[in-house]
Amino acid sequence: MSRRPLVAGNWKMFKTRAEARAFAETLAVNLAQADGVELAICPPFTSIDVVAMILQGTGVGVFRQTGHESENGAHTGEVSMGMLADAGASGVLLGHSERRADCAETDQALARKVPAALAAGLTPVLCVGESEFERDSGSTKAILDVQVREGLSGVPKDRLGDVVVAYEPIWAIGTGKIATAQEISQMANFIKEFVSKNFSNIAEFYLLYGGSVSSKNSAEILQIANIDGLLVGGASLDANEFIAIANS
Ligand code: PEP
Repeated sequence: MSRRPLVAGNWKMFKTRAEARAFAETLAVNLAQADGVELAICPPFTSIDVVAMILQGTGVGVFRQTGHESENGAHTGEVSMGMLADAGASGVLLGHSERRADCAETDQALARKVPAALAAGLTPVLCVGESEFERDSGSTKAILDVQVREGLSGVPKDRLGDVVVAYEPIWAIGTGKIATAQEISQMANFIKEFVSKNFSNIAEFYLLYGGSVSSKNSAEILQIANIDGLLVGGASLDANEFIAIANS
């Protein structure tokens, strides 16, 4: 991999503003240890401004965990991409399997959310991945085909390089069951080739792996060809563990 890998930490629905502040302060003073990597934190919405303020000027991205595709309107409880940028976010996770399952974040909605994020100046991270049942029934590639095809369908060709795709097998998220290097490699190659063939010849987007990543396995995963970084859930909640992963 010739580019700096991207390591993003998804805090899910964890941490108060005070806890987020303490994490960001620890990260800010230890950033030298993570030289050579791009970093991003995905806090809950309530902590975006505090994390963005502390990390301002450090180059660390602050991403939200979802966003609405409309600029504004009668969507009670929702936050638009422009509002996220206004609150200090520089990117947004889209289609995380927990959002797909809990909040019906569908492929059709994602087809609108990804370009909406780009238009607002945010880096969209499109999350894709198969369930255990889908893997066991041999349909992983068919699932990824649909998720990637739909998710990227509204992206202008010249903006594909600004999208990040995260391959996160659902059965590996929060379970401690890590996909093998061979499984990750096969699906990373499939996604890169699929995008090259169907969207652009260059497929220069970042492709992350996510699912039970920790400092014990991060170095090995980052060696896999076509993997350009990591999306880390549970292990990103501890600042020292996150820094150890970034350092790997
Ligand atoms: C995630 O939430 O995107 C994730 C990969 O979680 P974990 O690292 O805990 O499996």
